[in-house]
This record gives sequence, structure tokens and C-alpha cells, in this order.
Amino acid sequence: MQQQATISVRLSSGKGALHHGRLTRLVFVLAFVMILLSAASLAYVGTVASREADTLATQHQRQLLNDVVTGRMQLMSRDLYSIVHWDDAVTGLVKTFDQEFVSDQLIYWLDLNLQAQKTFIVTARGRVLADIVGSHAQFSRRTLPDQDPLMQIAREAIEKFMALRVQVDDGFGLKTISLSQVNQLAATTLMNVDGQVALVTAMVVTPDDQESLPAKLDPVVVIAAKTLDSALLSELNQTLSFENFTFERPGEKDPTRTTQLVTGPDRGPIGQFAWRSAQPGTAVWTVVMPVILAVCGLMTIITAFAAYRIGGLSSKLEESEERNRFLALHDNLTGLSNRLHFHQVLDHHVSSLPQNEFAVLACDLDRFKAVNDTYGHAAGDAVIRTVANRIAASVGTAGMVGRVGGDEFVILLNGFADIPRIQILCRQIIASVCEPIMLENGVITTVGVSLGVALAPASGSTNTHLMASADAALYAAKEQGRGRAVFAHELVQPKQDVTESENGNSAHQAA
Ligand code: GH3
Ligand code: MG
Repeated sequence: MQQQATISVRLSSGKGALHHGRLTRLVFVLAFVMILLSAASLAYVGTVASREADTLATQHQRQLLNDVVTGRMQLMSRDLYSIVHWDDAVTGLVKTFDQEFVSDQLIYWLDLNLQAQKTFIVTARGRVLADIVGSHAQFSRRTLPDQDPLMQIAREAIEKFMALRVQVDDGFGLKTISLSQVNQLAATTLMNVDGQVALVTAMVVTPDDQESLPAKLDPVVVIAAKTLDSALLSELNQTLSFENFTFERPGEKDPTRTTQLVTGPDRGPIGQFAWRSAQPGTAVWTVVMPVILAVCGLMTIITAFAAYRIGGLSSKLEESEERNRFLALHDNLTGLSNRLHFHQVLDHHVSSLPQNEFAVLACDLDRFKAVNDTYGHAAGDAVIRTVANRIAASVGTAGMVGRVGGDEFVILLNGFADIPRIQILCRQIIASVCEPIMLENGVITTVGVSLGVALAPASGSTNTHLMASADAALYAAKEQGRGRAVFAHELVQPKQDVTESENGNSAHQAA
């Protein structure tokens, strides 16, 4: 328990700075966590927004593709309608199948209006009346199997026709429809035609004016197929503007590409449109990223400033609290423990009795009033401070020293408890206090000190008892002529002073 002699020494301890550093670090760590959380949540929002943007863009592209392909097939249907909704076609294809009509007229109009690579003329029973490739017709008269996709599309076209046909005097005609309603009559699909995927439209041959379809005749369906080649793909892509727009085998996987599966009339996959995925989400990042960086940077600056200020304020508060704590427990003049602090420490030591023995030494300066009277109160103060330093230096780490009155000091000695060593310490204290003291004006003065020693637990095992014993011994020391130490446990015996002790008696005294 090294006793510091002055308040200034005590208060210059780095405890406040330590707290300051810790608190600033804590604020920094908290702020850092907050910044990280904010950055993470902004990044999360950015990720969600960019994903959502990508998803919406993909949905939009799929819808657009669907519309463009459907629109293209509707266009084919209109063109086909202009050819097969024709009295001459009823005459040349349905009533009698006229190969010349096909070769001379139908192919001409097909080529002019539709530019389909392949056209099939099929009866409701599945007989292929003609295979037209480009401007060349073949009249093979083969019959399509029931499950042939061409047959399926032909049946669909016939079903649509049935829904729109109207009875006329000698057979059937077609209900009047506008061009925009052609899709009610046409069956359209994407399907494999002779190993190539094609946009296909099929329509029943119907009369447009005078003619009618005899009830007993099979409807005849014209099926036009436009191969989905690169020319058609780029035509479709004029509206779509997709990057790397292709049509490929179904099931090809590339994470950077969006695909749209295409199924045939039998719902089986026949291929997929594919194009480089739209990534508007990337654009979101170019907006969000600078915002995240700016927000984090700003928050860092603000929190750094706040941490610095909080740290500074808290440090001041800590220092002030430390000072108040010190002042409450220490003597203003000497920096030694005051009566309150001394008694707290004494209580603590008393509680460890009888295991840990210790001693209480009550000290009172001899003839101190004379210093005050001769040199003034300020000089008296200087003497008290000097004496306090000397007593503290003598005790060193063996105990603690307190100032409990004007010229009264008290020592709690716990470094050792054997009487001979205590006697030696008492002599050292008396000798050091007696050393001449130079005052500020250069005048040299001296004081003495008397000591009363109470051993714990021999002279008391409570705070009050020990203090009373030490005071009684001090009183005895004063009585016996001052400048000496008297042990309380010897007071019951006839009072003996240091001279007697040194002459071979048993009284413990140091002078
Ligand atoms: P004794 O030998 O019997 O102890 O006599 P003494 O002259 O030392 O007088 P005593 O111990 O009875 O009184 C102590 C004096 O110390 C009383 C007071 O005038 C003076 N005193 C008390 N507090 C202070 C202080 O803070 N500063 C100064 N300079 N003097 C003080
Ligand atoms: Mg005194």
C-alpha cells in the first residue's frame, strides 16, 4: 500500500485516459457494426431490387416474344385467309381437285402473299392432295397418320371452321368475319415440319362470294409453314431487339441466357428460343453502389466525430469522478488517506482477524503549535506536508498512512507484526520527523513526534477498541515526555519510557 504524498501525483494517473480510450474504441466498434449493418441492408435492398428488376425484365421479354411470335403467325393467317377464302379455291381444291389450279394460281398467290417454304393441302380425312415446296407442287396423294402433327393442326382448323360456318341454300358458307378475327378461323402453332421448326398456320378453304361448300364434301385445309430460319429469326428480332437471339434444341442450359421453351401441337418440346438475359439489375447497382459508399462514408465521418466527442466528454467525466472520489477519501493538504478512508481500510483488516495480525500506530507531532505561532499557519502547513512525506517514506510498502487531525497521523501496519521490527520502524519515524525542516524563507525548524502502538488482535479486535488503545498509548507517550513510542499492551504495567527500556527493562519504546 504505497502511499502517494500529494494529490497532484494521484490525479495524474492515466485511469481517465484509459477509460477514454476504451469508450472511444467501444463507440467506434458499435459505430462500425452499425455502418456494416447499414451497408449490408443497403446491399440487400440493392440485391433484391436488382433481382426483381431482372425478373421483371425477363418476364417482360418473354411476354414480348410471345406477342411477336403470335403476331407473326396472325399475319401469316391473314395472308393465308386472303388466298383460301376464295370461291376459285373452293372450286379448284374442294369441289374438284384441280392440279392446274394449284400449279398455276394457288402457288402464285402463295408465293406472292405468304412466302411459306412449305404448304400442304390436306383433306379432313388426312389425304394430302398436294405438297408445295416453294413454287413446286407434288401431288403424291399420301394419307397422313392420325397422330401426325399436320393432321392435328388440320383437325384444329376444321374445328374452328365448324364453329364459324353458316348454312346456305346448297351447303355451307363462312360467317362474315373481319381481318382482326381471322385467328378465330386459323389454327396456328410452332411445330416440326420435315425436321425443321416452322411457324405454321392452317385454314379451311371457304367460299367468299357465290360459292358454297357442299355438305357432303370433306373440308380441305391448307397448311402453310414458314421455317424458323435465321431470316425469320432476325425478322422477329427487329421488334424484340434481343441480344444473340437464336432458336436451339430444347434443354440447353446457359445461366447468362434466357430461354423460352416451345412445344408442338402434341405439347412435346420442339426447341427453345434463347437470348442473352436482360440485366437491368446491373444498372440498379451503378445507382445503389455510390449511394451505399456515400452513406457509409458519411456515417463513418459522423460516428468518428461523435465517438471522439463522446470519448472526450466521458474522459472529462471520469477524471472529475476520479477527482471527487479521491477528494472524498484523502486529505487535501498532504494527499494521505483521510479519517474516512483510513477507517474503511481498518474495518477491512479487522474483518480478517485473527488470522492476519497488524498494528495501528497513532502519531501526534510534538509541540507543533509553536511552529504555527512562530512562523505562521502557512509554515505550519509546510511542516505538516514534510512530516507526512517522511512518515509515508518510512512506512513504505509495509502499510498505509492517514492524516486524521491537525497534527495527527495514523498508520495501519500490515507488512509485519513482530514487535522488534515495529520498534525499529517507530525509531525510524521519530528520527526522520525530527530531522530539520527548511521553510520557504530559509528558516530551519524542527518538530518531534510521539507514537502509540496498538497490536491487533492483542490490543483490540475491533476498530474502536484498536483506535482507543493506540490513542491511550499515544497519550502515555506524550505523558512520558514525547518523542517516543509506547505499546498499548504494556500500559497495564507501570509506565516505562525509552530510557528505562534501554536500561534493560521490558517496556517497548523507540526514540
Ligand atoms: P502536543 O505536543 O501536546 O501535541 O502539542 P501541540 O503543540 O502539538 O498541540 P496539539 O497537538 O494539541 O494541537 C495541534 C495544533 O495544530 C492545533 C492547531 O493550531 C494546529 N493545527 C491544526 N490543524 C492545522 C492545520 O491544518 N495547519 C496548521 N498549520 N496547523 C494546524
Ligand atoms: Mg501535537
